[in-house]
Amino acid sequence: MEENKEKFFYNLARPAIREIEEYDPGPMPAGAAIRISANENNMGVPPKAREALLRAIDEGNRYPESRCANLRTLLAKRHGVLPEQIIVGNGLDGIFTTLGRAFMEPEDEILCGELTFSVYADTARVMGAKPIFVPLTEKFALDVQGFIRGVTQKTKIIFFCNPNNPTGTLASIEEIKHLLAAVPQNVLVVLDEAYLEFADEPIPTAIPLLEEYPNLIVCRTFSKIFGIAGLRVGYAVADPELLKYMYKTRETYAVSILSAAAAEGALQDGEYYDATRSLVKEERKKLCSFFDRIGISYIPSHANFVTIFAGEKAPTIRDALLEKGIVLRLLTFRGKKEMLRISIGLPEENAIFMKEFEKI
Ligand SMILES: *Cc1c(COP(=O)(O)O)cnc(C)c1O
Repeated sequence: MEENKEKFFYNLARPAIREIEEYDPGPMPAGAAIRISANENNMGVPPKAREALLRAIDEGNRYPESRCANLRTLLAKRHGVLPEQIIVGNGLDGIFTTLGRAFMEPEDEILCGELTFSVYADTARVMGAKPIFVPLTEKFALDVQGFIRGVTQKTKIIFFCNPNNPTGTLASIEEIKHLLAAVPQNVLVVLDEAYLEFADEPIPTAIPLLEEYPNLIVCRTFSKIFGIAGLRVGYAVADPELLKYMYKTRETYAVSILSAAAAEGALQDGEYYDATRSLVKEERKKLCSFFDRIGISYIPSHANFVTIFAGEKAPTIRDALLEKGIVLRLLTFRGKKEMLRISIGLPEENAIFMKEFEKI
């Protein structure tokens, strides 16, 4: 047994998952590092979330209210929908898992961008479904027409990330409407609005389109502008009839008492939210002017990160910055590791990044 363990467990594992590669977040050194690799909010935990967390600690002996009723009530008010239209999960990752378990079958095709959030394709693979990648446009945006053309009899779910991670490109609400109008209603359209608040001009959420398109699922997270990535809260807004099936596959206690409390606090911390939004917009401008000045091309971004083209030296640059305690993300696009994604940090962090980057 000892020698054959590898083979033994390989054979026990579900065939669909045997060859899946584990998610690799890249190096994340603890301590002094400037972390601009994971699009986190570097402003720290929102003060109101912190207070709520501390108050919730003493509830820790109890199971949570399983469906996050209080949080859903707050979110429903914010978005002008009913609490029944909202499901809260263990991060958006948890929401995607739940969605996959509810709707993905082997043989199903799942459409997503050629360069987008990797969890969509990973979820499909785990379920044995087949991810199909829609090429980006010349401007590195998700191609709405390409998605429409990509739909076949087998398509079950479309994952459209807006703004897209890691390109930062944004589709207009008209393009989203066009997509929804063009795809058959038995194709679910998952619209991931994780970064919507960072768009240059405020653009509307697609949530109101739910009235017309019950196959739409709008996803939001507390990990970015709300600053509690470590507490893992995300949610989806969709038709209650659709959510019925997600509740069947959701972990009963997916969201801990601490996480739910922190999300409620974060939601009510308008000051932190506004400060984050202006910080990201201002610092993003600075970063782009810097790249303009030194002649590095980048994709204009509507999110809390900027992706640059660093050529063959990208891995070397990543490693050199890592040595200085600056962590950013190296990306593979069309087989080449030539892109770097830089999250917007605090002004002093961004200044250090620019100084060190220029030296290299
Ligand atoms: C960061 C991110 C999320 C958030 O995921 P959580 O599991 O809620 O932390 C979702 N979608 C995209 C595209 C992201 O980049």
